[in-house]
Amino acid sequence: MLNPDRPKWGGSVPPVAADYNHGMVFSRPSSEVAPRRVAVLGCTGSIGTSTLSVAEALPDRVQVVGLVCHSKCQLLAEQCHQFRPRVAVVTDRAAFDSLDRSAFPAETELKYGDDAVCELASGADVDVVLSAVVGAAGLAGTWAAIDAGKTVALANKESLVVGGPLVTELAAKRNAVLLPVDSEHSAIFQALTGHTAADVERVVLTASGGPFRGRTADELESVSPEQALKHPTWQMGPKITIDSATLMNKALEVIEARWLFNLKASQIDVIVHPESVVHSFVEFADGSVLAQCSPPDMRLPIQYALLYPHRVPGPAKRLNWKELNRWQFEQPDRATFPALELGFEVAARGGTCGAVLNAANEAAVGRFLDRQIGFLDIARCVRAVLGAHDFDPTPTLTTLLRLDGWARQEVARWTPPRTR
Ligand code: NDP
Ligand code: MG
Repeated sequence: MLNPDRPKWGGSVPPVAADYNHGMVFSRPSSEVAPRRVAVLGCTGSIGTSTLSVAEALPDRVQVVGLVCHSKCQLLAEQCHQFRPRVAVVTDRAAFDSLDRSAFPAETELKYGDDAVCELASGADVDVVLSAVVGAAGLAGTWAAIDAGKTVALANKESLVVGGPLVTELAAKRNAVLLPVDSEHSAIFQALTGHTAADVERVVLTASGGPFRGRTADELESVSPEQALKHPTWQMGPKITIDSATLMNKALEVIEARWLFNLKASQIDVIVHPESVVHSFVEFADGSVLAQCSPPDMRLPIQYALLYPHRVPGPAKRLNWKELNRWQFEQPDRATFPALELGFEVAARGGTCGAVLNAANEAAVGRFLDRQIGFLDIARCVRAVLGAHDFDPTPTLTTLLRLDGWARQEVARWTPPRTR
């Protein structure tokens, strides 16, 4: 369970990736044979189903012991028949009450609710928790897994955006390992292996640019949800797809990188790379730059996080060296996509800003998908709510959860400016 009554966090956050992975590559036996026992939170989503595709391809390496979905019970039942988990959890009350129990295998125990998610995430038979619920709703499961000292394969970037310092502090206290699933952060993590924080000059996150790369603000004023949901290189859930179109996804990733790798905001940069093959760069103190490259296919970073530090052939697409010709890079258009700037501001300011930014964005994306506000209103509204919030530099979890609710209410009553 989330414990909102924890004491305030101090200013010192332990270095994460660069230091915690130092040496691990050589300290684990390469002949490890027991499969990793995995609980998949968000199993019916884009990342969840990709995770199960990795598990299907690598049955000797990955054993699915628990599944969590919100509402798609039919798909959950099919997954249970295929993977035979010990437990399956549904978090939507109406979906749980109306599900057909006879559709599930007898050996899978069916449970309802957030407490059951946290119980699963901290279960003794779980080695790795794949955290892939969408939005701030994913924080509770991430938190429970970290509190139990688990290895967490983290797709739910919102956990770090909302509670970065508290989450990383807890991970250090409980000796829990946070392994990034987000492709950019997986790339950075891989490039950092064997290095310490002092070796790193900066990281540069790549961004596809989304479906509206090259458009002007005037053109974006009237784009529809359908247009924004057509991503050129990645197949993802609707919320992150809209975030990719506004570049808010990159803003969230700047904040995620700031906490995950204990970087200063000024050490993080973003470059647009439309092919989505170079998944990010790390520039070291001596000027050397390392990148990780692979076709856009989330099964690779998922597999890397599930099996870390081992590398085995898996189901992800591979680069075709005969077809490679050129990779393009360009600077992001920060004026047309103002959400990106918000990420840098929030990464620099910390405190309550991440929780407010995230909640305001989730609510604003919801209003855009419901056609209540326009595409450019998302960033306008998020900036207005962020600017109006009562900033606390060292919040408790209670404060963050309260501000999450407050920001959603503010977005609900926000009205777009009349003249643009
Ligand atoms: P999807 O929308 O495809 O899936 C979301 C999952 O979360 C579903 O299983 C859904 O259940 C479940 N869910 C939704 N609401 C709740 C809730 N209130 N409580 C518990 N579970 C809930 O999202 P994605 O897979 O695209 O993204 C998941 C996370 O991974 C996000 O944080 C995203 O930022 C991150 N990520 C995604 C990438 C991608 O390529 N998709 C890449 C990098 C990061 P149900 O479907 O049953 O309702
Ligand atoms: Mg990403």
